[in-house]
Amino acid sequence: MAKEDYYAVLGVARSADEGAIKKAYRDLAMKHHPDRNPDPVAAEQMKVISEAYAVLSDPQKRQLYDTYGHAGLEGYSQQDIFRGVDFSSLFHEFGLRDFFGQGGGLFDSLFGRGATTTRRRVRKGADLKYELSVTLEDVAFGAEKTVTIPKRETCSTCQGSGAAPGGLETCDRCKGTGQLVREQRAGYSVFRQITACNKCHGAGKVIKQACPDCAGKGFLEKTKELTVRVPPGADTGYAVRFEGEGETGADMPGDLYVVLDVARHPVFERHGDDIYVQRDIAFTTAALGGKISVPGLEGDLDLDIPVGTQTGTIFRIMEKGIPRLARKGKGDEYVIVKVLTPTRLTRQEKDLLKKFAELRQRLEGELPAEKDKHKK
Ligand SMILES: [Zn+2]
Ligand SMILES: [Zn+2]
Repeated sequence: MAKEDYYAVLGVARSADEGAIKKAYRDLAMKHHPDRNPDPVAAEQMKVISEAYAVLSDPQKRQLYDTYGHAGLEGYSQQDIFRGVDFSSLFHEFGLRDFFGQGGGLFDSLFGRGATTTRRRVRKGADLKYELSVTLEDVAFGAEKTVTIPKRETCSTCQGSGAAPGGLETCDRCKGTGQLVREQRAGYSVFRQITACNKCHGAGKVIKQACPDCAGKGFLEKTKELTVRVPPGADTGYAVRFEGEGETGADMPGDLYVVLDVARHPVFERHGDDIYVQRDIAFTTAALGGKISVPGLEGDLDLDIPVGTQTGTIFRIMEKGIPRLARKGKGDEYVIVKVLTPTRLTRQEKDLLKKFAELRQRLEGELPAEKDKHKK
């Protein structure tokens, strides 16, 4: 059954921010919450919108979804998808009864055992997440990184059993059946209780001699090197998926997601595709104007400071920011100037500034325009 697009479900644009997504979810929840709408279809709808919200409100899941569609979240179980959201406090905030909460709410009926087993036949290993720290330069220019991940490999000597060749023997507690049967008589009735054998854990065989290669674990701890392509424009939370590199599963291995974490830059601050830099300028430059040089991602940039620039003025240098991910163009660089007031003036500087102050006051009519009488 084709799943509906999460953005369409919530009725928001793909560019919608956190606030817009939350508002859309709130409005729909107010309409479909079982306390407000007795129709069973509404409860089903509640599940659909909550799933969409759980994905789109989580930056990492949203990015997976944006990049790969529903396929990006294949490795997540229903519980995994919902786990990231604190629905309890969310509903509290909305003034609605919490039904996703622990202790027999709607969560259990919607995502109960029946639903999960029929939905997921393939037993896939767990997905793994690897956080990769990168620099702002890495995401500005693109980079290739090598990550070394621990990887469990099934031991080829024992095929994962953990026993040396011929080192398995029939369990003496359960006589190889893997089950223990306990009978209890009560009058004419006999109760039979069957449990998994606690010695062989239901396998029917026990290890007499451990496999020498894996010390009885059945797997070997190895490492694997993977090359991660960091595309220009990627940001924290951007995930690169390596299919089948996750934990081994009964039927198929899970996937590995290498998730980027862009480190803070000592000079630039990133906001989306734009970068911000603060630059101190002398008060004389601010007053008289001039050309200054400012740091840029690809080297220093020239910036014209106009006459009479105030502190806090923001200048924009077009197309000197971060490349737009998978699109043409770049963000901009913003330069916030801070006018520095000089300290520790020399005597001569002080005199000049006093003179300046006097001229200024006279100009503004605060002092009579007569011949200077404070002259020393
Ligand atoms: Zn082995
Ligand atoms: Zn046994």
